[in-house]
Amino acid sequence: MHIITVPNPALRLKAEEVSPDEMKKIKSVAKQMAKLMYKSEGCGLAAPQVGLSKRLVVLDVGQAEEDENGEEPPKNPVFYVNPQVRRLWGEKTVGDEGCLSIPGITIPIERYNNIIVDALDSDGRPFTTEAEGFHARALQHELDHLEGMTMFEHLDPIERITYFQDYEAAVAAGAKPGDTGRSQST
Ligand SMILES: [Zn+2]
Repeated sequence: MHIITVPNPALRLKAEEVSPDEMKKIKSVAKQMAKLMYKSEGCGLAAPQVGLSKRLVVLDVGQAEEDENGEEPPKNPVFYVNPQVRRLWGEKTVGDEGCLSIPGITIPIERYNNIIVDALDSDGRPFTTEAEGFHARALQHELDHLEGMTMFEHLDPIERITYFQDYEAAVAAGAKPGDTGRSQST
């Protein structure tokens, strides 16, 4: 398993629902994705980013916190299978985001401050997450991946060209997934 990057067309596909009989397999895929996410120093990873067109996300926003003593933050991955947005609200703010599939650059993206998501965990049990701020931003970023949307699709055509040139330059300079840093890459 490895992280695919823009412009791989697999990143533009709308991901498929996970069916009940796929849950067992999804659990082992989810574990591998979490491992890969930590290795890449990201705080979120969606299945389309590993070339799997399924509605599965791994998120650990604790990974984005400051390491005051230079220690590794504790790992607490949360798995979202078939996530559904129940509510999206609050102030919209622009923040710089990184993406493991767009290494080497960050892009300012406008997001809502608050979100409620219903999903299944990796054992198929339903749960609900209410998030705000960075946590809400990271969830919205991952859910976009399930719709086949990367950060570039948030930009207007002129911005898209500019940021894509920056991205190509970063890749030419050797940028790899995770290079935008632990605090941002999802
Ligand atoms: Zn991303």
